[in-house]
Amino acid sequence: MTSTSENGRIKGIFTVQEEFPMMYIHYCTHCDRIHMLNGHKTSCPACGQPLKELSVSFLEFTNMDAQERDLYQEKCRSVL
Ligand SMILES: [Zn+2]
Repeated sequence: MTSTSENGRIKGIFTVQEEFPMMYIHYCTHCDRIHMLNGHKTSCPACGQPLKELSVSFLEFTNMDAQERDLYQEKCRSVL
């Protein structure tokens, strides 16, 4: 055991969850795009067409890799 002075390191960077903005994943069929938006939106910020809010959470979506996102978007496209 080495006794460097690392014990006092701050490890609370991600503990401010309450201030994390609530982001929701929406899909616009017109743009064929997934939009991450702050709050529940009903129209697309890009084209103004109605949006579909997706059941996946922001965290789930951000944890997906590019391939999983493609698959997910594919699924949105076929369901809508
Ligand atoms: Zn759009």
